[in-house]
Amino acid sequence: MRYDLHTHSLHSDGALTPTELIEAARAAGLDGIALTDHDATSGVAEARAAGERLGVDVLLGCEMSASFQDVSIHMLAYFIDPEHPRWVRELALLLDDRVARAEGMVDRLRALGVDVTMEQVRAIAKGDSIGRPHVAQAMVDAGVVATTPDAFTDQWIGDNGRAWVGKMAVSPADAVSLIREAGGVAVIAHPIWIERDGGGRAALDAVIGACVDAGAAGIEVDHPDHDDETRARFAVMAEELGLIPTGSSDFHGNAHGGVLGENAVDLDIVDALRARAPQGV
Ligand code: AMP
Ligand code: MN
Ligand code: MN
Ligand code: MN
Repeated sequence: MRYDLHTHSLHSDGALTPTELIEAARAAGLDGIALTDHDATSGVAEARAAGERLGVDVLLGCEMSASFQDVSIHMLAYFIDPEHPRWVRELALLLDDRVARAEGMVDRLRALGVDVTMEQVRAIAKGDSIGRPHVAQAMVDAGVVATTPDAFTDQWIGDNGRAWVGKMAVSPADAVSLIREAGGVAVIAHPIWIERDGGGRAALDAVIGACVDAGAAGIEVDHPDHDDETRARFAVMAEELGLIPTGSSDFHGNAHGGVLGENAVDLDIVDALRARAPQGV
């Protein structure tokens, strides 16, 4: 049994509908998938319906935004109760902020002479979880950059870039606590980003330490952005800290992320995560 534990649909910055994603998962030979849209669980019901039809087990997931010293941290949540009142409230705040932040980036881009509008960005995003990839696509459509990755630079909407606006985000420890309070388990996503995106080794150690203390269950060891040396390093770290080593494609269905099914895990990893859920759901 193979599960891909980190994927996106157009309920955040993925390109496929949840149904198309499950069809692709089946075609890739996966037995299960976790849909982990950014700050949203709204795609899971459709994914589950498709999964029941096609024989693909769909785990409820979410990739929650957090931050540490201006470094963006992504926390994967599994098995939460999506109706949990505090979870619902916190997610609504994150989504509202994503809209305000996109408006801020559009304003900055317009001030730089780039002809993009919020209506355009909303039309590209389709759902409520608006992110930089949608703003980047509007910039491609406006002819100012050739591809969406070209927008992620200092010149445009890369971290601290000229038109960049930061996201509202909670601390990694608070994200872990919230996920656990909502009945779920927390897994630190693509930890190399913490080190690479300006935080360095000190930030990596501080974030992982805080997450472990708050009760995180796992860490993403196998990820498209991790080279062999990085995977080996995080595998050792997972073992030492008692964290469940997970893996995923971080599939988006577009230029970002990996190929659906790459780094898929065996069922024992899924079972180990489930066993760490406070309610064991
Ligand atoms: P946001 O959450 O709005 O800050 O957007 C972050 C998302 O942008 C990530 O989840 C990726 O899907 C995407 N992303 C991050 N870095 C890049 C990049 N260099 N090129 C293209 N997409 C990126
Ligand atoms: Mn993304
Ligand atoms: Mn991520
Ligand atoms: Mn992701």
